Amino acid sequence: MAHIDEKPSENILELDNITKYFGGIHALQGVSLNIKRGAIIGLIGPNGAGKTTLFNVISGFIPPDKGIITFNQKVLNKLHPHERSILGIGRTFQLPKIFSNMSVIENVIIGLLQNSNDFSACKEQAKELLKEVELDSFSEFSPKDLPIASKKKLEICRALATAPKLLLLDEAISGLTPKETLEMVDLIGTLSGRGLTIFIIEHVMKFIMNVSQWVIVLNHGEKIAEGTPEDISINETVIEAYLGRKE
Ligand code: ATP
Repeated sequence: MAHIDEKPSENILELDNITKYFGGIHALQGVSLNIKRGAIIGLIGPNGAGKTTLFNVISGFIPPDKGIITFNQKVLNKLHPHERSILGIGRTFQLPKIFSNMSVIENVIIGLLQNSNDFSACKEQAKELLKEVELDSFSEFSPKDLPIASKKKLEICRALATAPKLLLLDEAISGLTPKETLEMVDLIGTLSGRGLTIFIIEHVMKFIMNVSQWVIVLNHGEKIAEGTPEDISINETVIEAYLGRKE
């Protein structure tokens, strides 16, 4: 158990030998990795590589069959998703999970009420958060009426409302136009500049290579490489996993 006066570890998240089977499918096979505090890390891999399963294991939606998840020097394995959220793990989903029967601002207030029971203070904070992601003019809208880029920003805003230290972004730019993608890059840069650690799944290679400082590659549930974007872009094993082996 870490003492309060202990220097925080350089790693905010450590995964040790994470394994997950779905019946006969090896979704994750002995994945070990460290996420450095304050970094932006990209997670890539072909369809079905195990990326979303890894996020589900980290955030507590799926228990691993084997392996240890350590966040801020605390083992998370037995904790529920909401307990991990309170400890500082926020996430978004491939398909935004927004309450469509509530207004945009109410969606954010719900997240804030996790750490406070002062509704009016939460409402003020929600306004500030919506301003940060440039959704303040949509506060009273129904999320159903928002375009996909704004839905994605609202999901990030909802995650920010829980005051995360680590933010897991699952496909943050899928479906966005080039201009919206650039706005997302800016937003991620701003959040990172404030010290948030960001772990991000994305298929668009150019985006992940631009935005990440370190890239981790999964294939068939195994970590096949990790390194700087420059190293990963010329890594033979990674190129083969994406493009197929030349016979
Ligand atoms: P994509 O890029 O297509 O989203 P991914 O890398 O995120 O893929 P996962 O969604 O983690 O991959 O899936 C890894 C493997 O586990 C796949 O074979 C998938 O079909 C399987 N899988 C994932 N979730 C479940 C589940 N709840 N039940 C059964 N099989 C699952």
